[in-house]
Amino acid sequence: MTSNLHFLIIPLMCPGHLIPMVDMAKLIAQHSVTVTIVITPRNAERYATVLHRAIASGLPLKLLQLRFPASDYGLPDGCECVDDLPTFKLNKNFIDACATLQQPLEDMFNNLKPTPCCIISDKNLSWTADVANKFRIPWVVFDGMSCFTQLATHNLWVSKIHEKFGDLDPFVLPGLPDNISMMKSQLPGLFNRGSSAKAKELKSVRERIREVELGAYGTLINSFDELETKYVDEFKKIKEGRVWCIGPFSNSNKNDLDRAQRGSKDVINQECMKWLDLQHNRSVIYACLGSLTRLTPLQFIELALGLEDSQLPFILVVKGGSRTEEIEKWLGENGFESRVKGRGVLIRGWAPQVLILSHRAVGAFLTHCGWNSTIEGVCAGVPMITWPQFAEQFFNERLVVQVLGIGVGVGAQRVFHLEDEDAGVMQVKRKNVCKAVKIVMDEGKEGEERREKAKYLKQMAEKAIEDEGSSQLNLNRFIEDIRLHTQLRVL
Ligand code: UDP
Repeated sequence: MTSNLHFLIIPLMCPGHLIPMVDMAKLIAQHSVTVTIVITPRNAERYATVLHRAIASGLPLKLLQLRFPASDYGLPDGCECVDDLPTFKLNKNFIDACATLQQPLEDMFNNLKPTPCCIISDKNLSWTADVANKFRIPWVVFDGMSCFTQLATHNLWVSKIHEKFGDLDPFVLPGLPDNISMMKSQLPGLFNRGSSAKAKELKSVRERIREVELGAYGTLINSFDELETKYVDEFKKIKEGRVWCIGPFSNSNKNDLDRAQRGSKDVINQECMKWLDLQHNRSVIYACLGSLTRLTPLQFIELALGLEDSQLPFILVVKGGSRTEEIEKWLGENGFESRVKGRGVLIRGWAPQVLILSHRAVGAFLTHCGWNSTIEGVCAGVPMITWPQFAEQFFNERLVVQVLGIGVGVGAQRVFHLEDEDAGVMQVKRKNVCKAVKIVMDEGKEGEERREKAKYLKQMAEKAIEDEGSSQLNLNRFIEDIRLHTQLRVL
């Protein structure tokens, strides 16, 4: 029976945020809580099949669709998701357009039944804190990042230690349970802003997000206690215990259809799945750098040739964005596809990542270390080849390589700032890609140890979301906390 609890979930409209928040909405609704996702029409359509299947199964899940004023903010009509932006220079326009949803949401609030008692918002949508304040309900942030990242961010924000170092001087991240070095050039934009005018413009946005986030009632995390125990414990101390690790969300998609349509409604790439069926167990490298990375053609070429040099079977997901034409021109002229025919598969556009990763033939994941991809790699139980690109991805690389011991880096040295997309520097050569792939796939002792650790974490990830698993218990605790808070408020 559905309780009288009603949570609003407000995602940032970007695949790396929407995908986990849709999963989270389904998970919470399974606990008899009414959940309404605040979404725009194009995104509702993109996630329609997954959402309608969940609703048809009887979950108390609803959508509140609000019109997105794209063209008023200089965005192409129908552009309602960050991966649809023609250029990431328009990021700030996008964020400003999102903020206009505040008024229509407030206008609708009292019509929502039962009255919502909690907002779970993407941390990037600071205006949702004002909505929660206005209606006097808790504002809980979902930050699609690990506790490792949360702790590292908190400690840098407080200590400002990075300001004492040059871009390429390694220094130890303060206050972490492990000894982890990084360079300023590898830190996310909050601590290492790009030099362009656009990057400067985003500085105040990032700082406001951080300030507002500090006042959140609590934080929900797509991770699980056993994955990063020491980091979870430390982060909880900072947040007076109000941190709930309730992931890994991707594991909650139990059937192939949900896995295949996660993030895009019509993508079963049959050819690719049939090809995978023909490959040996754990033999294929799956290379995908997330939903937003657009490698420069030069950097793409090094990745492609590095995979070719490895002599191993691979799937390479190509997302060229505005660079598609140049990349396709190279692919055509170079003869790459005919040389690797049968051994390498290119997916242009959206790949059913979780479905591919769960295939027995996948032996390693070459990833940009976005947190979703990272935890999906953990769930798949495969070692990773890490090539961080932007945001907090170098933190995730450190967690994977140094703390968990399940990855090998290609040697990236600095973040790209998405909004500085013309400033592409070549960082990683084909020989670095090939070397990291070979180390990870090596059948010797080190490679075997890495694979064993990855398998163990996969088992832990599965247990976490079982009935008495840590994430299930944390989710129960979170819901009880809000229930109690709501009752006390009413008294
Ligand atoms: N994803 C996918 N197919 C693609 C690209 C990405 O399914 O072709 C999914 C991936 O499984 C993950 C999300 O999109 O759930 C990307 O999030 P992540 O945090 O890894 O990186 P971002 O895209 O935000 O950089």
